[in-house]
Amino acid sequence: MTEPQKLSLTVRIFIGMIAGAAAGLLLNAVFGESGDLVIAGVSLNDNLVDGLFGALGQIFIASLKMLVVPLVFISLVCGTSSLSEPSKLGSLGGKSIGLYITTTAIAISTAIIAALIIAPGEGLNLTTEATYSAKEAPALSQVFVNMFPSNPIASMAQGNMLQIIVFAVFFGVALTLAGDSGERIKAAFNDLNNVMMKIVSMVMAIAPYGVFVLMAKLFASIGFDTILGLAKYFFLVFFVLVFHGLVTYPVLLKTLTGLDPRMLLNKMKQTCLFAFSTSSSNATLPVTMATARQKLGVQPSVASFTIPLGATINMDGTAIMQGVATVFIAQVYGVDLSVTDYLLVILTATLASIGTAGVPGVGLIMLAMVLQQVNLPVEGIALIIGVDRLLDMTRTAVNVTGDCMVACIVAKSEGELDESVFNDPDIEDVKI
Ligand code: ASP
Repeated sequence: MTEPQKLSLTVRIFIGMIAGAAAGLLLNAVFGESGDLVIAGVSLNDNLVDGLFGALGQIFIASLKMLVVPLVFISLVCGTSSLSEPSKLGSLGGKSIGLYITTTAIAISTAIIAALIIAPGEGLNLTTEATYSAKEAPALSQVFVNMFPSNPIASMAQGNMLQIIVFAVFFGVALTLAGDSGERIKAAFNDLNNVMMKIVSMVMAIAPYGVFVLMAKLFASIGFDTILGLAKYFFLVFFVLVFHGLVTYPVLLKTLTGLDPRMLLNKMKQTCLFAFSTSSSNATLPVTMATARQKLGVQPSVASFTIPLGATINMDGTAIMQGVATVFIAQVYGVDLSVTDYLLVILTATLASIGTAGVPGVGLIMLAMVLQQVNLPVEGIALIIGVDRLLDMTRTAVNVTGDCMVACIVAKSEGELDESVFNDPDIEDVKI
């Protein structure tokens, strides 16, 4: 008798996601968005949704996040110290940053053009009681100054990705220059890296359950009525996100490398499910990194640098939301923006993405910065905040796909892409 085939991890995560969403929707439908069932003084919302699902979801996200700092530091030290010539770092960095900025600028331009054509805010007379108070966005010059750590331990404690990257690059280059001592430490770092990848596998094994509780909690409390009111805005952002992921990326990958984009999209499924359910490029980073290396064949020297950098500075999906939202808010408030204003929006959104980390909801903070630049009311954000959570999930999936696509292009151009791995359709799951 043949053994029943075990479902792949991607399929199990997908099932967890759908089952979680269905369970959440059921709770939502039965008890209502804010309704609750109290049996013998025990509240279902408090105990099951916020209590059990909330706690388990937080534990799952924390387990992913706990990997990020050590993983980025250790793998980037290994990656940098494995470069044949440290001078290669310059071209690696230049290409990665250049591509990240270009794809973000394309993303927001597409979004603005689509929004101008569809006009999602025209004729809408939305008033809102809600207010949105913008958090302080960092000044651009400060963003660059802040990249350099004055205390690397503090950078790690705060999870400041750009500072960790800068320190790891210094450390890795120093290892190659330090002769025998460097070699010994390098070997230890390579061992540590293997251990870290094992922890990634352990966390990924519980992903189907983690994803289930995250989805159940979200869908139990989401307000679908808000989406109906903002349907045009919601679906336009959604459509441009899908377009960017399924058209712009494949075209870029094909023209710049000749690689088959279907392979990329196919192998991104698992990472996208993580991104979708965690809404955070940062929390997804361990999975994105494993995907780039194990499924797409991007060599560690490129993956360990380009992927963490992308999780911080590359947010195409977020830029798309900002493009549509800016046009939407301008239309609702009846403000005419000039071409110069739109160029300013593109520039600000692209630069803003460099200084802000990939965590849930950060896109709205960046949007505040963009709106201020063109003198639109920041309170406008309150209009779209109700539907932002679902869009956040979708744009995070686009963000991580962009990170992997750029990693493939850079790796290919540096001769650091293992095409036999990239083209192997059977590598479905990250190894556990
Ligand atoms: N959640 C997004 C990310 O982590 C950022 C955002 O759009 O809010 O990539």
